[in-house]
Amino acid sequence: MKHFALMLLGVCWLVMPAGVVANGQTGSSLAPASQAARPAPSTSQVQPASPPPTTYTLTPERRAQAIAYSRSLYILYFLGTLVSIGIYLFLWRARIALRFREWARQVSRRHFVQCLIFVPLFVAAATLLNLPFDFYYSYILEHRFGLSTQGLSSWFGDWGKSLGIVAATGVIVAWVFYTLARRSPRRWWLYFWLASIPLVLAFILIEPYAIEPLFYKFTPLEKTQPALVERIEAMLTHAGLSIPPARIFEMDASSRTKAVDAYVSGLGSSKRVVVWDTTLKTMGPDELLLVLGHETGHYALYHIPKEFALDEAVALLFFLLGFFAVNRLVERAGPRTGIEGIGDLASLPLVLVVLTLLVFLSAPIVNGISRYFEHQADQFGLEVAYGVVPDPNAAEVQALQILGEEDLADPDPNPFIKFWLYTHPPLDDRIRFAATYKPWAEGKPLELLPHRQ
Ligand SMILES: [Zn+2]
Repeated sequence: MKHFALMLLGVCWLVMPAGVVANGQTGSSLAPASQAARPAPSTSQVQPASPPPTTYTLTPERRAQAIAYSRSLYILYFLGTLVSIGIYLFLWRARIALRFREWARQVSRRHFVQCLIFVPLFVAAATLLNLPFDFYYSYILEHRFGLSTQGLSSWFGDWGKSLGIVAATGVIVAWVFYTLARRSPRRWWLYFWLASIPLVLAFILIEPYAIEPLFYKFTPLEKTQPALVERIEAMLTHAGLSIPPARIFEMDASSRTKAVDAYVSGLGSSKRVVVWDTTLKTMGPDELLLVLGHETGHYALYHIPKEFALDEAVALLFFLLGFFAVNRLVERAGPRTGIEGIGDLASLPLVLVVLTLLVFLSAPIVNGISRYFEHQADQFGLEVAYGVVPDPNAAEVQALQILGEEDLADPDPNPFIKFWLYTHPPLDDRIRFAATYKPWAEGKPLELLPHRQ
């Protein structure tokens, strides 16, 4: 499932330039692997003679690579937070934000027009300053570990598009934020939280239509894999569920990466299951059914609205904390640096410093919520595949194993890292669960699909 904190950030809080949090998906979702890179033991067919593995197993070289890659991601995650804060402090201290606000005032007295000038300038400055970090993180590192298939021009194309999206959403969010901060200096945290609900909902709703297609092509899976979709539909019907085939898409992830994945996004009429084409190429049909089983679990169990509601509850607390921190900061440091108060656009860098810190501090809670739903989706995948795939446990173990190998998932994350930034349970835990969860063998009812027995 897509990470919601990110959307919450993106929409309510203007998006940090550090794209790291976005990719803090160090847990890896539920997906597949590639034949080329995969070492020998890709026993896709279940061999009754030798029991399937029950732990995440890598060759020594692959294991060393996975550990080195994961460590780099962890370091960059923490470093990215510091870099963002440093950039905002610089834009504040060097009075660059102040200058942008002056220019905006010269153009118009209307607040919205001022936002229209100020926010894109500010976003462009922050994003440019962050470019070296961004480039290292999402281009150099990915190529060094052989995960990226993306050329330079395509990478810069994506970078430019992201900049445009952040600037456009930023104008709206900043306009709402500063309107509320001006009208209600004491209660803006509450009103802004209320405003964040429709803003984030709108973003989740339109994202699959308006943003995802800017980066990738989506084809109904039915067109390329009719047999697979038929089996998925049979699996869902078997479980008394219905997800229209038109809502299941293939995405051309191979245009940018070798990594494998799948996800669920959108709400209501935009809700969809998306499988990366890399996953389709690297997994056998049974493994794919387990991947799809996991993703449809997010869909069938309403994880998107549930996670949204929980994340909003967390956000309310953090908005209140942000209120005290921002007010204090602006009152103390504002006057000597030309900031006229919390309602002044020039306060944006200080608001973002606080926001970045709060987002960082809320990560363990938000990611803990995510891990719970991801585990539940794993369980759902096994239950829904039972009776359709000959051995759901073996297929799920294999699917996760492929996912780990292809995405260089950390074989042994330390507990602090898991607690702070894992959106999914560590792969080894997922594989152990996949190997051992079989209520059907013990005569117990299925927990998530009880009517099936
Ligand atoms: Zn998931």
